[in-house]
Amino acid sequence: MPEPTLLRDQDRFDSKHESVTDALVARALVDEITLSFEFFPPKDEAAEARLWSAFAALQEVNPDFVSVTYGAGGSNRDTSLAIVERMAQEVLTIGHLTCVGSTIEGSIQIIRAFENAGVGSILALRGDSPKDQPDALAKGEIKSALELVDLISHHTELEVGVAAFPEVHPESPDLAHDAKVLALKEQAGASYAITQLFFTVGAYLDLLEANEEAGAGFLPIIPGLMPIANAKQVIRMAEMSGAAIPQELLHQLAEANDVEARKIGMDYSIQLARDLVDAGAPGLHIFSLNHHEAAIELARGAGLCR
Ligand code: FAD
Repeated sequence: MPEPTLLRDQDRFDSKHESVTDALVARALVDEITLSFEFFPPKDEAAEARLWSAFAALQEVNPDFVSVTYGAGGSNRDTSLAIVERMAQEVLTIGHLTCVGSTIEGSIQIIRAFENAGVGSILALRGDSPKDQPDALAKGEIKSALELVDLISHHTELEVGVAAFPEVHPESPDLAHDAKVLALKEQAGASYAITQLFFTVGAYLDLLEANEEAGAGFLPIIPGLMPIANAKQVIRMAEMSGAAIPQELLHQLAEANDVEARKIGMDYSIQLARDLVDAGAPGLHIFSLNHHEAAIELARGAGLCR
């Protein structure tokens, strides 16, 4: 692949941004886009050591912000909070928060805990009913991310972000429906969205068009990108999220050995990232899966770090 043009000065901002909006505006003012990474709470000590080593390595490229996922049903609430609290000391941190199966009082408590932990933003999500609690959504007091956006907006000054789905949310009839829901979330207080993983720039552009038609055309939509370093893992995650991997890419990955598959996958991810930058994406949010090598390779390939 040719060397990328450097599109972001990783050393330009040496103090923390206050919010994602602040980061997007600061970068846009100097004709740059944001770079950010997602992490998930580790399950054991070895995984925790890996997480902090990946976090330290990714801090070297000065991301504008990071985010930490939260288990549906609050299964990893304490770990998630502890991770968020530690990361927030170094970089603007988004705490993901799900509401499936939650009570209003319980959600208010966790919103306050996030606030005390120093998050700059909350990503308000519904989450999905865990496999062993299929009726969690029905039993909980909060039924949708929209209701959670409303709750957060009423109880804190914290910035709120939401999820967006270039390949249509699995329960939604079409993109237009998702876009109407997104417009409602914006009216309820959401100020940006991060997307589910997807594999074509066309899917992102279709989402922007649907949002514009639904009246949410000004909401910044940050693409969520997964580096295709481990093809089997990405194919599994794509299946879980309902995102379709292009047949041609699937075919190439299936024919290749592991080393070739990594190269094919990473080249594809980097090209997609570059196409998204060309299409005007305001930032790239990379799902690090708690590893730094592929995430940095992707960010570097897209011209977002040295
Ligand atoms: P909602 O906005 O509630 O939407 C769910 C469905 O209901 C959609 O089909 C929507 O169209 C429909 N809907 C919602 N409101 C209305 C309405 N008012 N009228 C009509 N239809 C409506 N999951 C986790 O468990 N933990 C995480 O940390 C996490 N992080 C994520 C981060 C990102 C960037 C993304 C994209 C997803 C993440 N998820 C996470 C997954 C997410 O929780 C699931 O995709 C979930 O199924 C939907 O979440 P939502 O917030 O979009 O829900």
